Amino acid sequence: MAADDILIPATTLTSFVAAIFRAAACSPEEAGRIAHHLVSANLTGHDSHGVIRTPRYIDYVTTGLVHRDVKIDITAESPTHAVVDGHYGFGQTIGPQAVDLGIAKAKSAGMAIIALRKSGHIGRIGDWGERAADAGLVSIHFVNVENGELVAPFGGTDRRFSTNPFCICIPGAPSAAGASETAREPHLLLDFATSLVAEGKVLVASRGGKPLPEGALITESGTLSTNPETLYGPLTDTSPRDPKNGTGAIRAFGDHKGSALAFMCDILGGILTGGGPSGPVPGGKRGQISNGMLSIYLDPTHFGAQNFVAQAKDFADYVKSSRPATNTPEVLAPGEPEHRTRQSRLQNGIPLQPDTWTSLLTVAQSLNVPIPN
Ligand code: NAD
Repeated sequence: MAADDILIPATTLTSFVAAIFRAAACSPEEAGRIAHHLVSANLTGHDSHGVIRTPRYIDYVTTGLVHRDVKIDITAESPTHAVVDGHYGFGQTIGPQAVDLGIAKAKSAGMAIIALRKSGHIGRIGDWGERAADAGLVSIHFVNVENGELVAPFGGTDRRFSTNPFCICIPGAPSAAGASETAREPHLLLDFATSLVAEGKVLVASRGGKPLPEGALITESGTLSTNPETLYGPLTDTSPRDPKNGTGAIRAFGDHKGSALAFMCDILGGILTGGGPSGPVPGGKRGQISNGMLSIYLDPTHFGAQNFVAQAKDFADYVKSSRPATNTPEVLAPGEPEHRTRQSRLQNGIPLQPDTWTSLLTVAQSLNVPIPN
């Protein structure tokens, strides 16, 4: 946490953000869902997908790029799959409907695949993996952004992919005896962008937050950069952060391996779902940016492994027992950083950079929403 960060209790922040969306004519239920998921991203340490997105979401809804209270449309269906159109509804409203459909089918058939297209920004993908894991299911998610190209492929400089997140979540083992039936150890959660950094991390850096790691960006002439202006063009404190204004790109993580995974996220999350791959907005205009997500849900009880979640936890403990490398305090399991940050931020409050807080106050004032004390 930086010295000038503002610490806000999660409950206060959730009510404030929900009030902003209600003032933008969202239903109380939808406003609450959006606020819950944005704050959940902050709680897990992914500030790039947290309340910093509020001004952008308000802009999307007031200009008709995202729609209020949309019900998913199931365009094809069998006991083990469904193709779902989100019709550019808020991702926080479309996501739960699509995931719950996958959970219901996998609980009955042992597995299910849900091909979701045209959802508004669906936020932190870990929320969807955790929702399935809370129901005892393993899930795998390939995600793309139609009309959202930001990332240069390995060996290239021009943008060809979005930040295409990939997620796998394994349910945590049941807690010690005496705990409630649904109480679990933290889920094992892989959840990251296939770009070296998520776009939101460039956004955070551009507002004075955590600087970008070496080589995160590439300029149009092919040199590596950590300057957010590579993505957003020339910036002042108050100028909008629009990737369309920049000429450079974010780099794919892991050289050819990350680039190939991003490629497959576009094919599965974009083309197979019917939403479309990353690419320039037709006519170069400001278009409707949407997430596509191909999700695979597996009920471990339908597979042969005995005590699957307990064995997965034992394996995680074994991995964590590897002796720490120099200057590394300990080995962590995937999902552990998010779990620890959540515990700490629930207890101590969520740190927000002053710029992020100011941008929330500005949007709240424009909608006559009272500012929390
Ligand atoms: P990141 O680079 O912080 O990686 C997070 C992942 O790495 C988690 O699974 C975490 O548990 C694991 N991890 C971190 N440190 C670890 C350690 N020491 N040992 C073991 N595992 C460790 O994530 P990111 O790429 O910056 O992505 C941030 C968020 O942005 C994600 O939640 C992602 O879903 C979201 N995102 C969404 C979109 C979208 O279009 N909706 C696009 C891109 C990213």
